[in-house]
Amino acid sequence: MTKRRPRIAVTATAGEVPQMPAMTAYNESDGLLEVIESLGGVPVIFAETERVPPEAYTQLFDGFIAPGGCDVAPHFYGEEPRRGLGRTTPVRDAFEIGVIRAARSQGLPVFGICRGLQVINVALGGTLYQDIPTELPGSFVQHSQKAAPDRPVHHVSIELGSRLAAIFGEEAFVNSRHHQAVKDPAPSLAVAARAKDGVVEALESGDGLVSAVQWHPEDLWQRDQAQRRLFEVFMDLAAAAAAKRTRFL
Ligand code: MN
Repeated sequence: MTKRRPRIAVTATAGEVPQMPAMTAYNESDGLLEVIESLGGVPVIFAETERVPPEAYTQLFDGFIAPGGCDVAPHFYGEEPRRGLGRTTPVRDAFEIGVIRAARSQGLPVFGICRGLQVINVALGGTLYQDIPTELPGSFVQHSQKAAPDRPVHHVSIELGSRLAAIFGEEAFVNSRHHQAVKDPAPSLAVAARAKDGVVEALESGDGLVSAVQWHPEDLWQRDQAQRRLFEVFMDLAAAAAAKRTRFL
């Protein structure tokens, strides 16, 4: 029997189509689709919806990637919107939170990028800083980089003994395009990396099935083997989930 290619679900960002007000465009990063494909996966694009329960989606994929996007609406973690909050997409929040919880309960791997790290944290019971500049005045690192998106700008210290340390060692040099950050990590997640100002830059679960980074490895893997390795580890977990699923079908 030939092995089935792992199906990797990715939520796409909804946008307007110019001059076609009734249409919605769904955009996904080329770099992300390319790395999934180059590692043998089939990307499955999810458009967020309120009309189908998120749990209904879990059987369609072997791994879920929550990519970058807008701010997470603070009512999902019990806060009122504060001054520094940016644009939110609550339908997408609810959809991704549902998909993440369903994936967790079925033992499927989940990988988060930037907003994806934040929404995973919220889905599993954590909280966020709504805006680093107004809520974390001690943060001295520029987390909204002005350099090109595929250029690393700040360093992160990796937690000794973490799964992330097996990939990067003690330190990584990363890009940074976020103004929100993890406040309280979810009970089931451990902080695996911090920027030099203490801002949380990576989370992982004890079972290794959840990993998330605050940076954008989809823009870095082309030049940095360790960043590519992040995706390889996730794809190995998705391949294992696909194999297990085939056996029981
Ligand atoms: Mn950062």
